[in-house]
Amino acid sequence: MRDFSQDHSALALNTATLGHNVEGHGAGWSPERVIDACAERGYGGIVFWRREIGSRAVEIGERARAAGLAIPGLCRTPFLVGPLAPKPDAAMFDDLHASIDMAADLGAASLTICVGGVIEGSHSIGDSLKRVTEIVAEAAPRAGAANVRLALEPLNPVYGGNRSCLVTVRDAVDMVEAIDHPAIAVAIDVYHVWWDLSLAAELQRLGSERIAGFHLCDWLADTRDVLLDRGMMGDGVADLKGLRRAVEDAGYVGLCEVEVFSADNWWKRGPAEVLDICVERFRTLC
Ligand code: ZN
Repeated sequence: MRDFSQDHSALALNTATLGHNVEGHGAGWSPERVIDACAERGYGGIVFWRREIGSRAVEIGERARAAGLAIPGLCRTPFLVGPLAPKPDAAMFDDLHASIDMAADLGAASLTICVGGVIEGSHSIGDSLKRVTEIVAEAAPRAGAANVRLALEPLNPVYGGNRSCLVTVRDAVDMVEAIDHPAIAVAIDVYHVWWDLSLAAELQRLGSERIAGFHLCDWLADTRDVLLDRGMMGDGVADLKGLRRAVEDAGYVGLCEVEVFSADNWWKRGPAEVLDICVERFRTLC
């Protein structure tokens, strides 16, 4: 397992940690200011959200790389199915394609997919996953041609109804196998998998080539809001080192991306303080 205690160049920031991805939150820093603040602190990468990028994908990508930061990902596609997906399907596909194009313009290595909740009226995780598989398979060639990997992110089962019918790494690996396209991979997020004792075995089945990212935060024992009350690493109950060991035992050697949605705590602090604490927690606890 890699030793980060003296070297945090494998640390990446997901800008959700500063609240900039959600309207009405965050300190209002420009992407450039966030890039510079990460570069100054020795971060190795940065992951933006589409709303921060707008029409400036090429420019922001170049700026980040010039500052020495890799861009392991972009958040994210629209929800593909379920109550929060754009309607009709044609509108969903338009936005899906636009997200792939933005990731390509930005030079992001991957584009995160949150697949969306159970299809309305279906009462079926299985049928919903089947439809997601068809949609992702259809998008795979476009992503492959753009040199962008589509990173299926299984979400915590609490989101099964509205945000993701894909709730286990097992189902994500099955989907990758069913689609069988080199542009399809899986992102592993502590918040979503910390409870799953089958994680290590499923990651062995997946293989390192298909692991697109590893996201860090913590699960607070008294979580008050499943969307906006994530914990900073060390403040919760997840076995952070054990989870990283499972990912690295499967061969992953990529960046570790801090992604803390926290409307009432971390988003209310100054971004500089938050970025410093992420570094310290990463070196000592992750
Ligand atoms: Zn994540």
